[in-house]
Amino acid sequence: MIIVMLGAPGTGKGTVGNLLSREFNIPHISSGEIFRSYIKKDEKLGKKIEEYVSVGALVPDELTIEILKARFEEDDTVNGFVLDGFPRTIKQAEYLDELLKKEDKKINVVVDLSLSDDEIVDRITKRRTCPNPDCREIYNLDFKRPKVDGICDRCGSKLIIREDDNEETIRKRLLNYHNISEGLINYYKEKDILYTVKLNNESNRVSSDVAIEIKDYLNKIKNV
Ligand code: ADP
Ligand code: ZN
Repeated sequence: MIIVMLGAPGTGKGTVGNLLSREFNIPHISSGEIFRSYIKKDEKLGKKIEEYVSVGALVPDELTIEILKARFEEDDTVNGFVLDGFPRTIKQAEYLDELLKKEDKKINVVVDLSLSDDEIVDRITKRRTCPNPDCREIYNLDFKRPKVDGICDRCGSKLIIREDDNEETIRKRLLNYHNISEGLINYYKEKDILYTVKLNNESNRVSSDVAIEIKDYLNKIKNV
């Protein structure tokens, strides 16, 4: 099963991606998480990546592809994966297509989670993240509060606010998203594998409902 999560930052693609990866027992590959772990290791490559991530700019395609390539070569990817944050540009999408073609594999679905910019800013400023790399649960102070303030329900780690989750950086990331990544939506629409989920904060559709909707959709297309 190969699932690609699209959607601007803050649409819940990380959470939905996590749930789908547990459901189908395939790894959740998040380019943002991979970059943050490189930054933490603080080697030369990490420093380079940080220059972009810290200001909300996209890491250049060449570097992104080089790093993701190494991840795709790991053994746990044989039965597929949920991609979250990659591809982010047409060039990355073309790279992925080529890679899959070589292995005679195909993307099953590209999920587009759509939400207005103002609602996104509202969500992200209320986002709290579990920093434990084996957990990475994501919370929201409005509709997914941890049981104990500031503590992860699943693993007990102290929740953090991601460094790039401030309004200025968020607006920049949204601009990027609209400028560059929206072309991806058309790219996949033309390939007829796009599945759009319209969200709004009022209806407060939680990510678990969205994950169930996608799972049902995947079962349906499997049986056609
Ligand atoms: P969000 O989707 O909330 O912006 P991510 O965790 O997906 O956050 O990404 C964080 C940052 O990592 C992005 O703002 C960007 O700088 C960088 N990044 C992540 N994925 C990619 C990618 N595929 N190509 C280029 N840069 C990326
Ligand atoms: Zn946790």
